[in-house]
Amino acid sequence: MLHYSNITLTSIHTAWLPEHISAAMLRLDQLHPEISGNKWFKLKHNIQAALADHCAGILTFGGAYSNHIAATAVACKEAGITCIGIIRGEEHHASGNHTLQTATANGMELIFVSREDYRNGTALDTYASLFPDYHLVPEGGHNPLGAKGCEEILSILPTTHYTHILCAVGTGTTLAGLINSASLQQQVVGIPVLKGAQYLESEVNDLLKPGPCPVWTLLHDFHEGGYARKSPALIDFINSFYQEAGIPTDIIYTGKLVKAFQQLALQGYFPDNSQVLLVHTGGLQGNLSLPPGVLTF
Ligand SMILES: *Cc1c(COP(=O)(O)O)cnc(C)c1O
Repeated sequence: MLHYSNITLTSIHTAWLPEHISAAMLRLDQLHPEISGNKWFKLKHNIQAALADHCAGILTFGGAYSNHIAATAVACKEAGITCIGIIRGEEHHASGNHTLQTATANGMELIFVSREDYRNGTALDTYASLFPDYHLVPEGGHNPLGAKGCEEILSILPTTHYTHILCAVGTGTTLAGLINSASLQQQVVGIPVLKGAQYLESEVNDLLKPGPCPVWTLLHDFHEGGYARKSPALIDFINSFYQEAGIPTDIIYTGKLVKAFQQLALQGYFPDNSQVLLVHTGGLQGNLSLPPGVLTF
């Protein structure tokens, strides 16, 4: 359905990158303007399963600015399958935003639930039982089929020569897919964008295939204040990285990833001659929540 031929490896050239390290970005953001990066890989097998099982549609969950919600709507439309999005928060706060407009314009039916019902799982239980013939995709595409789809990411282009693979982490599904598919001599590093997300270690573990796997780690100090927190320093960094490297990043995930990479590189985290692959997981549609002019691209 989607053409991976749009995806490129962009070498990263910036003044701050130490000479003994080389780095490149795997540009999943180039896959599709709305089915952003990693979300496609997480959805792919879920949509195939829903079609194979003759489900009535896809039932999924997310916040009002969720890349996953926008991506699911567009991917389901392309696959010709119905979808329902259960959205956290009251409708009047959010219905005008770009993410939800994309979702509705692509045929997703939206159902708004209170933050409390969303958080404590009542909404999930209620709607899973109201729509028993739908294939349920958890928030963020966090399930084994999601991780399985992410195992493809490293084989889109030649990546086996990289020594380190870095990606931003929300639920850890993408990271699990990368660990499951990296070669044993590579190191896989996840940068959680949520504060205090120590539970991720076991959640990622639960999605790993049995048997040997490459060395992997989560570095918890680069959330920049917590999920969706965007300090002026982060915005400045995203703008200057775009100016220097020509690569647009997003405020929630990939901007924090590159900023973490900068700090790690400057701290001497990477041995001499490291070749670092940063996975650009997309998410650029989320930047539209900013007032115009904050970002320079
Ligand atoms: C959703 C998202 C992530 C997080 O992926 P997980 O598999 O949940 O860890 C990372 N980057 C972007 C741009 C995303 O939209």
